[in-house]
Amino acid sequence: MIGGQHQIRLLAFLLYDVKYMAKLIDQYNRKINYLRISVTDRCNLRCVYCMPVEGVHLRESSEILTYEELLKIAYVATLKGISKIRITGGEPLIRKDIIRFVGMLSRLPGLTDLSMTTNGVLLSEFAQPLYDAGLKRVNISLDSLKEERYREITRGGDLKRVWEGIGAAGQAGMSPVKINVVVIKDFNDDELVDFARLSLERPYQIRFIEYMPVGASNGWEREKYVSSEEMLRIIETILPLAPVKKAEECGPAKLYRFREGKGEIGFITPLSQHFCQTCNRLRLTADGKLRTCLFSDEEIDLKSVLRGGGGEQELKDLFDLAIHHKPEKHNITDPVFKKCNRHMVTIGG
Ligand code: SAM
Ligand code: SF4
Repeated sequence: MIGGQHQIRLLAFLLYDVKYMAKLIDQYNRKINYLRISVTDRCNLRCVYCMPVEGVHLRESSEILTYEELLKIAYVATLKGISKIRITGGEPLIRKDIIRFVGMLSRLPGLTDLSMTTNGVLLSEFAQPLYDAGLKRVNISLDSLKEERYREITRGGDLKRVWEGIGAAGQAGMSPVKINVVVIKDFNDDELVDFARLSLERPYQIRFIEYMPVGASNGWEREKYVSSEEMLRIIETILPLAPVKKAEECGPAKLYRFREGKGEIGFITPLSQHFCQTCNRLRLTADGKLRTCLFSDEEIDLKSVLRGGGGEQELKDLFDLAIHHKPEKHNITDPVFKKCNRHMVTIGG
């Protein structure tokens, strides 16, 4: 009889384990372990490919999740198997008390990797406190090495401040420092070689990103897109590149290096060679919506559940629901496709 009871209890525990502790594995057998958290829909720049010229509708601050709410979601996410978190935005460094939030996240048990994507404008003052709070690596967006062109693409940004930020990140001990470059035909594709050369002298990872059609008015047209193969061909006109064998957890970038180079060169190819079959990520918008694919408008509303009194279990169930709905792949390479409604600045790239 005791044995019988023991077996029943064991079975109950196993069922509990399957339902509630199971890691996030979706219908296509992808293990989801990466969450991008957008902390704000605001930005101190207005990059032409990210937001329309008139700006975007900004949400009231009461609509934006507090750090405590974000932490609650992040905690539940780690219970579900999320081990990597990237803080993004809008521009994460303009949200008040961001250092405090980094500190909160960095103490989460179960988190093995914490990073941030920033435009770098405020990084010179924030790099050291960020590092001290637990942020050990950073991606900085920089689409031109020419002051005037940088100002144009960001609609007003100051290139010098970004360089100061990049320097400060290195000095604070952040590593690797990754530089994200969105490549746009006949706008900055003539700088591919100059960007690539940076990896000769410095230990940076220069990541060339294919221009993506996110948001109905982000200016994307097929003619403005440069494939990573074309980029590679242009860069190899100066020096041959060798592929870098990378660890599985290094994300979708295809990595290369110059033989004598201190850094690396990466290509992010969402269009030319989509990486949907290995996509391991979810995105949480600043207003509390969980998105399973950058290019899809499907969202799961965590904020209403959280503010309606939902606890750990309800949030876990929503993560399961999200995973169940994660699409197999995006359709942006189809000849006709619908661009998603939100602009990148309000999703979190
Ligand atoms: N403000 C921060 C920054 O610029 O790094 C973080 C947010 S931004 C939306 C995140 C990343 O998305 C940046 O590297 C940016 O270049 C990239 N991005 C935005 N719109 C894009 C687009 N249409 N195609 C490709 N990358 C894009
Ligand atoms: Fe702001 Fe980053 Fe978008 Fe540029 S890419 S407008 S810096 S959120």
